Amino acid sequence: MAKIQMKTPLVEMDGDEMTRIIWQDIKDILLTPYIDLKTEYYDLGLVHRNETDDQVTVDSANATKKYGVAVKCATITPNAARMPEYNLKEMWKSPNGTIRAILDGTVFRTPILVKGITPYIPTWTKPITIARHAYGDVYKNVEMKCPAGSTAELVCTDKDGKETRETIYNFECDGIIQGQHNKSTSIASFARACFNFALDKKQDVWFATKDTISKKYDHTFKDKFEAAGIEYFYTLIDDAVARVIRSNGGYIWACKNYDGDVMSDMVATAYGSLAMMTSVLVSPDGIYEYEAAHGTVQRHYYKHLKGEETSTNSVATLFAWTGALRKRGELDNLPELMNFADCLEKATIETIEDGVMTGDLYLLSTLENKKKVNTVDFLKAVDERLKKLLG
Ligand code: NAP
Ligand code: MG
Repeated sequence: MAKIQMKTPLVEMDGDEMTRIIWQDIKDILLTPYIDLKTEYYDLGLVHRNETDDQVTVDSANATKKYGVAVKCATITPNAARMPEYNLKEMWKSPNGTIRAILDGTVFRTPILVKGITPYIPTWTKPITIARHAYGDVYKNVEMKCPAGSTAELVCTDKDGKETRETIYNFECDGIIQGQHNKSTSIASFARACFNFALDKKQDVWFATKDTISKKYDHTFKDKFEAAGIEYFYTLIDDAVARVIRSNGGYIWACKNYDGDVMSDMVATAYGSLAMMTSVLVSPDGIYEYEAAHGTVQRHYYKHLKGEETSTNSVATLFAWTGALRKRGELDNLPELMNFADCLEKATIETIEDGVMTGDLYLLSTLENKKKVNTVDFLKAVDERLKKLLG
């Protein structure tokens, strides 16, 4: 069978540890035998980030701007322990943070559902995608401790020097204050990214704030979302939480920064496994970067280095590739490439539903005929089914 041809390269961002091993396995077993894979390769592994003073991360983000679609492997965000481990010149910043700042994107996280893994909330028969606004609010706050007897005020000085003041509180005892901000442009970008994604997926957008209490701050978010003028569902955040639990899923839940941080962990846990959660960064001008939501699975990597067998789940990383390939196919009008992505996803889900799965899912699955396989054997089992689907 002739290999599928591509027109434009995908931006390929390689990463670290166990996911770096899986990355190569996925390419060798499931991609290059079928596709004449065209990528522009950037090695975001910590060794190379350190060698290039992290320039490679910036270059990969700029390449993503140029080509429009990227696929990223999980990467280490260095902490103190990584300094001697990788002999680092500096504690380099999170690559995801750097890329997000350059692309100005919104992150969408969607769970992959399979038979046999029942969400802790059994009514959730369809995925809930969480869209988290990744700018401002409490993450860019300034805060102070205020001694008893002090007066705290909000002061805004406009460009002509005119001050607007508002008393926060007159402290009769010791207390604390916090200042938060957001930008109209960032909120509008967030709204636009959510609606673009929703149009792509043909799903509803839910959005919620606390605008009954926060009449200016949260109300601005509500206004920016309404300005789009298309059908969407707005409610108060407390009401949204109650409705989400009672729902069947199948929509995009747009969340303010803090709500998204907290709710995405709740939703991921309730669907069963972080290893089944995909993540895509979408910029307001329609640039897509696909990845798995989990990290580099460090513990499994150390086992792998000792020569022990691993049973690491590759599904989210695999779906990052299929998401990117499908999007490339869509943009370049390559139906064969889009069909390949569909078949590979189908083969992956069939494999798990046939009872062949990695250790993490084996612990959760309610299937009777389940079998635990190692990292590579799982990919081979997917390949058997992929071959049949591709005919
Ligand atoms: P992690 O890599 O997500 O793994 C945490 C634990 O979750 C694993 O030890 C494993 O549990 C389970 N797990 C996660 N993914 C799995 C998979 N695909 N298959 C099977 N089990 C899986 O998080 P971490 O250990 O906290 O972080 C490791 C490194 O990843 C850190 O350096 C961090 O900076 C980085 N990180 C990167 C990203 C990213 O690039 N997007 C995101 C998060 C973290 P068991 O050990 O119980 O099997
Ligand atoms: Mg969180």
